[in-house]
Amino acid sequence: MDTIQDIQEQAFKELEAASDADAVRALSVRYLGRKGIVTQLLRSVSTRPPDERASFGKRANALKNRLNEAFETALKRLEVSLEGREDHVDVTLPGRTPPVGALHPITQVMDEICDIFSKMGFDVVEGPEVESDYYNFEALNIPKDHPARDMQDTFYVSDAVVLRTHTSPVQIRTMEHKEPPVRVIVPGKVFRCDSDITHTPMFHQVEGLLVDDGVSFGDLKGTLTAFVHQIFDEKTALRFRPSFFPFTEPSAEVDIVCVMCRGKGCRVCSHTGWLEILGSGMVHPALFEKVGYDPDRYTGFAFGMGVERIAMLKYGIDDIRKFFENNARFLMQF
Ligand SMILES: [Zn+2]
Repeated sequence: MDTIQDIQEQAFKELEAASDADAVRALSVRYLGRKGIVTQLLRSVSTRPPDERASFGKRANALKNRLNEAFETALKRLEVSLEGREDHVDVTLPGRTPPVGALHPITQVMDEICDIFSKMGFDVVEGPEVESDYYNFEALNIPKDHPARDMQDTFYVSDAVVLRTHTSPVQIRTMEHKEPPVRVIVPGKVFRCDSDITHTPMFHQVEGLLVDDGVSFGDLKGTLTAFVHQIFDEKTALRFRPSFFPFTEPSAEVDIVCVMCRGKGCRVCSHTGWLEILGSGMVHPALFEKVGYDPDRYTGFAFGMGVERIAMLKYGIDDIRKFFENNARFLMQF
């Protein structure tokens, strides 16, 4: 009568020691297979004394069922835990690339602009974003009550302090500390109280200033033409259109042939074939007087461009706000 009990104890002991599914399968064969221990036990029922056969057969059958159930449960548990095991490596799966950050498209374009001018011999300088009224307006030939102040919707911190509306104050700051020749570009953030699909309250400018003996409008034209050919391409024609800025005289806005339609006329260029990309001109003598340069000796040119505008044209983006919504799917394209 003890045989069945012994087999059961032995089987469960071995099952406990089985560490993987193969070991459990082997046990199953050993006990329940065609020549298995329990199978043979069942076959031996007929050899038992007649009065024992019924109860022996019943117990042997119960053992068979119990072991069968125990082996199946163990198999399921081992197969599931194999998939979930931390050290389980499926070498056939494709690798997971960790997400890699990138420079913001505006930073990329700003770097590219600075790079082009650096190669032409311009130094990169920066200035404060919170600026005094003097540097932002007064010193740039925009006195109080000058109508030009209305051209820029200004954020005032106080009566005498503003968030700079352009990078031009750095022209004054640079000339105050350096005698000509001066050759600088000024990348940075500027602020205007304005928001729609082509304006954001904060945007980026790159300003350029060159002052020396005998600098002419021709030098300005040559410098900007070389720049446009590098930032867009060699075939991009440009034109200078007379304009007005208080800090330059004469002043010109620079247009390039529409990058979308190549001058044929389209929605982007309002069917003119041209796109305005920057403002420029010869430095107004009043600025030289403010910083103590001799306006009879020195001449210079200055220009300023919106980085977002250049980036939008370069990449065909129609809404400036996309740059600042921080949608990674948009930003990862650059
Ligand atoms: Zn066009």
